[in-house]
Amino acid sequence: MTRTGQQYLESLRDGRQVWLDGEMIKDVPTHRAFRNTARSIADLYDLTHDPSHVNTLTVTGEDGGPRVHRAYQIPYTYDDLVARRQAYKVWSENSFGFLGRSPDYMASGIAGFQSVPDVFATESFDGRPNLAAYYQRMAHGDLYQAFTITNPQIDRTKPASEQEEDDLYVRAVKELDGGIVVRGAKMIGTAAVFGDEIIVGTIEPLAQQDVEYALSFSVPIDTPGLKFISRTSYEAAARSVFDNPLSARFDENDALLVCDDVFVPWERVLVYRDVRAALLQWWGTAAYANFVHQAATRFWTKLEFLSGLAILIAKANNTYELPPVQNQIGKIMGWLIVAKSMVLAAEAAYEPVPGGQGVRINNEIASAHRAMAGDVYPKVIQEVKLLAGGGLIQLPASGLDLRHPELGGLVSKYVRSPGHPAEKRMKLFKLAWDALGSEFASRHEQYERFYHGAPHVYFPAIVRDGNPGLLEQLTERCMQGYELADEPATSC
Ligand SMILES: Cc1cc2nc3c(=O)[nH]c(=O)nc-3n(C[C@H](O)[C@H](O)[C@H](O)COP(=O)(O)OP(=O)(O)OC[C@H]3O[C@@H](n4cnc5c(N)ncnc54)[C@H](O)[C@@H]3O)c2cc1C
Repeated sequence: MTRTGQQYLESLRDGRQVWLDGEMIKDVPTHRAFRNTARSIADLYDLTHDPSHVNTLTVTGEDGGPRVHRAYQIPYTYDDLVARRQAYKVWSENSFGFLGRSPDYMASGIAGFQSVPDVFATESFDGRPNLAAYYQRMAHGDLYQAFTITNPQIDRTKPASEQEEDDLYVRAVKELDGGIVVRGAKMIGTAAVFGDEIIVGTIEPLAQQDVEYALSFSVPIDTPGLKFISRTSYEAAARSVFDNPLSARFDENDALLVCDDVFVPWERVLVYRDVRAALLQWWGTAAYANFVHQAATRFWTKLEFLSGLAILIAKANNTYELPPVQNQIGKIMGWLIVAKSMVLAAEAAYEPVPGGQGVRINNEIASAHRAMAGDVYPKVIQEVKLLAGGGLIQLPASGLDLRHPELGGLVSKYVRSPGHPAEKRMKLFKLAWDALGSEFASRHEQYERFYHGAPHVYFPAIVRDGNPGLLEQLTERCMQGYELADEPATSC
């Protein structure tokens, strides 16, 4: 059975070492930097018990056991893929697309690993039994998996083993009878503060000389020695929900993970000392396609939200009917329809998981989507900002100004537009600033560009996953249709 929101919130009360502003957080669910976002995540769990969503969000377990979140289901048919997307859509609409790493993201990845278990069987270590137990534990415990699979930006020109020190990236430093001891760091643990377990791995290729770094494991967030060093909290900086409606409630936070001599029992290890399996875990299973399926559905929701914002802003400024404004809104909605169409097309062009069980969305479209989304998101933001003009800035600092006995009247008189008394207008434009211009908004722009890797990685992947030969052939065929020798001696 899936968890309730309250059960989820209680689970955050453990010995986790979350650091913020030089302080170790004692109680995540009540701390001012995390409490509202924890509540927003708890709301997602509550939705799985809502009679109107239970059949969309949950499904009978693989073994006919209690219901699990649909993201844990291995899809076997087109209908299964559609059902997954419908579940992603319900959750993403609850945060308007602003919780990128909601629990269904990595749950999809775990289902993806389980679709090709043989990737985890290597000469040095057979991770398949651990993978099977991990899948059961996460699915039936309805656990929230965070992940860090990127090495910190220390020196990007050097492989792991040639960095200035050996333990800058996570590696095994000791083997014991019962497991390994790991040391080093990983970036960026989005929502790790809110998770139950963290999976550590490496999504980039490692050279054979980096074999010590070729490992993957999942441990509870409160495992001794794990430290999460959080970035600035936008939730803590929010004045109120009215003033910062998104940052106050959907700040999933991002943390640097430090493994300070962490003991990892063997049964928690999935890949050990194998550079090929460390890479294939992500690319040779259905994990990556499943990630994109969730992320692309969320992105579609986010563009729906931003399109709605654009329409409301134009209406508030009474510019909606102007032809150039229709042009701008059409541009934004066009991008939204591209985003939606890519999800539907990737499902329709589904393919069997190579070497494994079940199906996945079309890999070529998945690859193109992550490039499209990183490219389009800043353009959408830019276009909505252009529509909004100075109204994003010409805003009283907070709702307190409106409530003030002396100022309130002035604010009401001058901060308004047809059909928009001051409170309604401030509410809309403060939401808009939080989505478009705040520090939270800026982090979202960076997120959409980098959460699936950097552009220098994902654009070449389109060439790799596509069929450039076929494209060449078509253009060649065009040129084969005429020859210089066929031309008259004088030009026309
Ligand atoms: C908000 C946010 C949340 C994230 N959440 C997670 C998470 O939950 N888990 C996780 O594991 N990761 C997460 N990531 C990290 C993400 O996986 C990385 O940012 C991504 O893999 C890109 O790596 P990088 O940031 O180190 O960029 P780099 O690889 O350092 O690239 C940055 C830039 O440097 C240049 N560059 C670097 N190397 C080269 C090269 N070889 N050739 C050409 N140009 C180069 C390019 O201009 C490139 O755009 C998150 C990132 C962001 C921004």
